[in-house]
Amino acid sequence: MKAHLELDTGGKTFATGLLPDLIAALRHCRAGDLLAVVAKEASLGPELETWCRFTHNSLISTSIEAGRVCWLIRCGDAPAEDDARPVGSRLWLYTNFDCNLRCDYCCVRSSPKAPRRALGLNAVRRIAREAKELGVAELYVTGGEPFLLPDIAEILLACTAGAPTTVLTNGMLFSGRRLDLLRSLPRDRLTLQISLDSPTPERHDLHRGKGSWARAWKGIERARAAGFRVRLAATVSSEEEAEEFRRFLDTRAVADGDRVIRRIALRGFAGDGVAVARADLVPEVTITAEGVYWHPVGAEDADLLVTREIFPLAEAFSAVRSALATESRHREGLARIFNCA
Ligand code: SF4
Repeated sequence: MKAHLELDTGGKTFATGLLPDLIAALRHCRAGDLLAVVAKEASLGPELETWCRFTHNSLISTSIEAGRVCWLIRCGDAPAEDDARPVGSRLWLYTNFDCNLRCDYCCVRSSPKAPRRALGLNAVRRIAREAKELGVAELYVTGGEPFLLPDIAEILLACTAGAPTTVLTNGMLFSGRRLDLLRSLPRDRLTLQISLDSPTPERHDLHRGKGSWARAWKGIERARAAGFRVRLAATVSSEEEAEEFRRFLDTRAVADGDRVIRRIALRGFAGDGVAVARADLVPEVTITAEGVYWHPVGAEDADLLVTREIFPLAEAFSAVRSALATESRHREGLARIFNCA
């Protein structure tokens, strides 16, 4: 793995002046860049590890080559989400709710037994048309498993005509006819976000079903071989699991923009996870066959439903903006009411 910058300690330790050199090196790096620290002696390791822990940098590997020890450090915390993204710049479509899997944390209770509740090609075409007029910058297509739909190619073509599109998939269905269908889609405006929860099958399969990791991995390889940009998305239950997955992505040289790591949300089937209320979520307009929701993480939960009217899309966006404005005023009011001093 290639480091952005290499710092040769020249025999310095924390006791003899290494710290200013480290700080100077970090100033030349951005969050996510890799910094290689090299020395002749391995004795620096424990101190460097402690320093990384306290400074929110991550020591991701130690190697010895040609008589030198090399510590590879990822600089800084993972880049934060952009809270300032305007409402409606990113639009989510739930094309269906049925899925070939039944993951035990699925936030919308998808499974092979879940009714399809398809949004439908005509609705998607109109949404994509109106989204383009409204200046939507990104479309996200999700489910359920979108590739179960017989008309998913037409749906994705309609979406990419409206805005650059990412389709979320478990990646398990890319064989035979569906692989041909995938290969027929445009590479330039379509990204595949494929779920992979862990570096090895055990934990992924525990949540998603036996053999699912191996099939997802095959799907990732096939999508890449077909020339698609593939983003890997892990759903994890702890920071340790997240860090383990980051290290795995580092070893595979997966770029920051092609990785998504999120915690299990306490919604849908999940019995454990991060409890997310509407007030915790920056709205990302989400459309399902049933209406317009506040956020994709609870796209069938009554507390996140904004309106049942999808069209005109401009009015659906207005409804979300106006709900956000009302709720923000309410929160400010509460802050004053509960002002204790
Ligand atoms: S988490 Fe994704 S793959 Fe798993 S059941 Fe839900 S929709 Fe299907």
